[in-house]
Amino acid sequence: KVENLKKHYNGGKVKALDGVNCHINQGEVVVIIGPSGSGKSTLLRSLNLLEIPTSGKILLDDVDITDPKNNINLHRQKMGMVFQHFNLFDNMNVLKNMTIAPMKLLKKSKEEATEKAMKLLERVGLADRANAYPSQLSGGQKQRVAIVRALCMEPEVLLFDEPTSALDPEMVGEVLDVMKSLAKDGMTMVVVTHEMGFAREVADRVIFMSDGKIVEEGTPEDIFENPQAERTIDFLKCVL
Ligand code: ATP
Ligand code: MG
Repeated sequence: KVENLKKHYNGGKVKALDGVNCHINQGEVVVIIGPSGSGKSTLLRSLNLLEIPTSGKILLDDVDITDPKNNINLHRQKMGMVFQHFNLFDNMNVLKNMTIAPMKLLKKSKEEATEKAMKLLERVGLADRANAYPSQLSGGQKQRVAIVRALCMEPEVLLFDEPTSALDPEMVGEVLDVMKSLAKDGMTMVVVTHEMGFAREVADRVIFMSDGKIVEEGTPEDIFENPQAERTIDFLKCVL
């Protein structure tokens, strides 16, 4: 739950987030859309405390994670993040990429971490690439590894920031398919994307942001078939 979240830069000249309120329910898939610079990435990064909000609250399971008294790392572990540019560790093979955090942070044994990683790799059709290095993978393969790497930490929520924007068109589908299958399994997901087809098909709720604010939110049908705000209508004209 996000309450009146603000993130200002340059002494308040840039209001990347200007009072955002939203609620994400367990098992929900929420897609965030909006023009460049509207604050989508800042919102996602704030949820994970990669950005420290200027003011406002973020409640995860009723705990205010912006309260400095709370353990940031513990809350971060509950929220996996998938980035546009994969952010894999280039000097580690796929398996090591996936087992290092569970071993270090969740104190899993090597055997346990490896078993879980291999199961997940199988799920996304990459078990045979476990020993490959990121440089030896295609973009779509890298992103599928990034997604299952996040899952290895058993997060409560997965955050995706334009996960398909850096991919060649023929690889977009394979990554969206993995995301669809996670959604079907009931994973809670917040997804910033320009893939309107994905939003229509998979989102339970679509949020439209502009100028650091949530302008409008609703079901995909509400937003795509019957947008209310002028800014939403203008944006959709450009992207649909
Ligand atoms: P895009 O679709 O291009 O990724 P976005 O909706 O993700 O855009 P943000 O990256 O969240 O937008 O940026 C929101 C605003 O905050 C923009 O005006 C941006 O220039 C500004 N901003 C983001 N990060 C910083 C920073 N570190 N310092 C100063 N301004 C920033
Ligand atoms: Mg962004």
